[in-house]
Amino acid sequence: MKNLKQKTRAYALKNAVAYKGKANQGAVISALFNEGLKKDKVKDCIKDISKVVSEVNKLSFKEQKKEFEKLEGTTSKRKVREGLPDLPGAEKGKVVMRFRPAPSGPLHVGHIISNMISSLFVKKYGGKFYIIIDDTDPETVLKESYKEIKKDCDWIFGNVYEYVNSSDRMEIYYEYVEKLIKKNSAYVCTCSGDEFREFSKQKKDCPCKKLNVKENLERWGKMLDKNDYKVGEAVLRFKSDMKHKNPAMRDFPLARINETSHPLQKKKYRVWPLMNLVVAVDDIELKMTHIIRGKDHGDNAKRQEMIHKIFGKTSPWTFFMGRIKFKDLILSKRKLTAAIKSGEFSGAEDERVPTLASLRKRGYKPEAFEKFAEQRGLTEVDKVISGKDFFEVIDRFNKE
Ligand SMILES: [Zn+2]
Repeated sequence: MKNLKQKTRAYALKNAVAYKGKANQGAVISALFNEGLKKDKVKDCIKDISKVVSEVNKLSFKEQKKEFEKLEGTTSKRKVREGLPDLPGAEKGKVVMRFRPAPSGPLHVGHIISNMISSLFVKKYGGKFYIIIDDTDPETVLKESYKEIKKDCDWIFGNVYEYVNSSDRMEIYYEYVEKLIKKNSAYVCTCSGDEFREFSKQKKDCPCKKLNVKENLERWGKMLDKNDYKVGEAVLRFKSDMKHKNPAMRDFPLARINETSHPLQKKKYRVWPLMNLVVAVDDIELKMTHIIRGKDHGDNAKRQEMIHKIFGKTSPWTFFMGRIKFKDLILSKRKLTAAIKSGEFSGAEDERVPTLASLRKRGYKPEAFEKFAEQRGLTEVDKVISGKDFFEVIDRFNKE
């Protein structure tokens, strides 16, 4: 990579200026990847990078700012910007976007910083912003989450077009399953998990893949029939390619049997569609135009694209955002829920937790988070930040 040291210095300064004088080496390296630094070259230049980052961190905040101002323009990304970037292909009044929270615990600041920008784009262009409650895994759904999500999203976004529960759309997913089977693009597999993994490893089809449409429809009927296949005995799979270079793409599962009682649907259904099927179908049915999601969803996006192709649809325009990793905040819904249940925190409104309920109670304004999302814009760069530094920025916006 050309000019490695200069570029490192520029990004270290940029990062330091954004984060109260302390540049984070990981964030600098992520930025360098965007500039073309190859992953396998990192170990050759890590010493140089470390040296530059620590030099920058020795400067005072004032010095960093002064030098960064001179350098601006050599770092490829924007300056602090007012307003949102443009959304490619967006038409006035016709932008349809979504946020898909799982009802498995309180919403927190992590959800908002990755989804606020979708809400803002819909505000900017006009259209529909859906909240789709991802509740097709009966084991993780908490009944109280539905109400909390609604309260939180009404408050923080203020432009929710409609709340949709995935579990109210089961008949639609079932229709799509039948269509997929009839198009010879899905099959019911009765191999055990271990057996299937072995076929996958050897890049071979399992015996179930040879079944014809009629046999698959029969098997699908057996999955739905509570007197037939038991839990774990059969799974619906997408016919992709067992030789696909990415093992995660090889005939991935679309639906499974789970007899756990669902908080809303109770025992009405025993076959539950899995995430990729649900998301692919919702995006078609609700006519999504743009999706902004985390980089960690790259494989899922590819799976959903494969499903869309079968139905002759092009996937919505998708942008993969870099992740913000908080060094010191509990952002796992499972952990948050457990800590609240154990009495460590008094509830989702406890001042010490970064939930939306708590932020609302502490007097934060949604506009502070809007401003943060606006300034971050669309970026693939990952960021590591401490809760303290993050809230310093948010507090400043909140005062404004
Ligand atoms: Zn099989």
